[in-house]
Amino acid sequence: MAKREKQCAFCGRSEREIKMMGVVGEYIICKDCATQLYQFVGESNRQQKSNVPELTRTAIPKPTEIKDFLDRYVIGQDDAKRYLSVAVYNHYKRLMQNNNAEDIEIEKSNIIMVGATGTGKTLLAKTIARKLQVPFTIVDATVLTEAGYVGEDVETILTRLLQVADYNTELAQRGIVFIDEIDKIARKSDNPSITRDVSGEGVQQGLLKLLEGSIVQVPPQGGRKHPEQKMIAVDTQNILFICGGAFDGIENKIAQRLNTQVVGFEASLQTNHIDRNNLLQYIAPQDLKSFGLIPEIIGRLPIITYLEPLDRTALRKILTEPKNSVIKQYVKLFEMDNINLSFNEDVLEYIVDKAIEFKLGARGLRSIVETIMIDPMFSMPTSNENSLVIDIDYARKKLDKTNANRLRAA
Ligand code: ADP
Repeated sequence: MAKREKQCAFCGRSEREIKMMGVVGEYIICKDCATQLYQFVGESNRQQKSNVPELTRTAIPKPTEIKDFLDRYVIGQDDAKRYLSVAVYNHYKRLMQNNNAEDIEIEKSNIIMVGATGTGKTLLAKTIARKLQVPFTIVDATVLTEAGYVGEDVETILTRLLQVADYNTELAQRGIVFIDEIDKIARKSDNPSITRDVSGEGVQQGLLKLLEGSIVQVPPQGGRKHPEQKMIAVDTQNILFICGGAFDGIENKIAQRLNTQVVGFEASLQTNHIDRNNLLQYIAPQDLKSFGLIPEIIGRLPIITYLEPLDRTALRKILTEPKNSVIKQYVKLFEMDNINLSFNEDVLEYIVDKAIEFKLGARGLRSIVETIMIDPMFSMPTSNENSLVIDIDYARKKLDKTNANRLRAA
């Protein structure tokens, strides 16, 4: 049998017509196609680089502008808003400064936000993302485990960032990552039933590499790293990390520290000033350490801020004031059917009362409104009515019928 002639897998020409260059995977490639491919890859890399927009001082939002923007969507939380606005602004400055090697090097200021669940940590992060000119992603620390265990490698945090940057590494390398539920990777060594702390200290060690700035091999599709997968090298030097967590029970650590601090000299004077209803405002790095974060991680999160618990006044505002508040969303839904929807003031107060009574917080507001509105949402689009006023009797009737368990904190 005649020996089969080698053919270029791209142009189909045979060895007699053109010199073959070599083998790419299972394909043979000719000299011409190899040259073209080489030029194409070079060009697309150059294009990727030029797709990274230049930051200019006038274009980047100032901290007060960032905060004003946050105010439109998030009620209260002034401390967190200020810290975030400054951190993002400084992040931009660092990015601009990196073009000039002679300058004083500005260190990265990763942030940690501590606040009870449902007080607006994720909302703050998502809102700030709308204002950003850099890639941004939110990842959940609970899925991370130490290499070799069921779960995801720490590096997959960067997979998400690469994806939102459309795999443009340059762009991803100046992005911002929000790591939610960072408290879930706290060391659990106090708990004797856990013999192997696979989702605790090991993960923190892994995370440390990312936070402090190093070249990390990232699996482009996420999941577990495996040898056949081609990795993408990402430099985390200029990536800003914002971490958030509820740190349930950290108030006790804060109280303990404050109590031991104020024993003795001028003790009574100082304890009088402590607001026991909102201990988070006194949070300090040592409290995070007592909670189970390793000192190296804490050192890489130099900015600590906290979120206030949401009181009645805050919940009432959340219901109607943010740009896309729950009530505004329902009004919009009805408006699309040409129906003018309004709520009496006492209904709004009643919704807040119920959220407090059932301990649902801000997340519960939506499910309460949903419960009240489900029947009219079903029937109104086919009716001839063009206005609907929700009064207190109607709201009570709808909610009384509902089993409180159905009112989840959505
Ligand atoms: P966390 O991340 O702190 O657990 P979220 O940011 O996910 O809480 O808040 C849950 C929902 O509650 C938000 O989507 C928003 O509708 C509402 N919410 C919570 N806090 C605020 C706030 N301060 N201002 C406006 N809405 C809020």
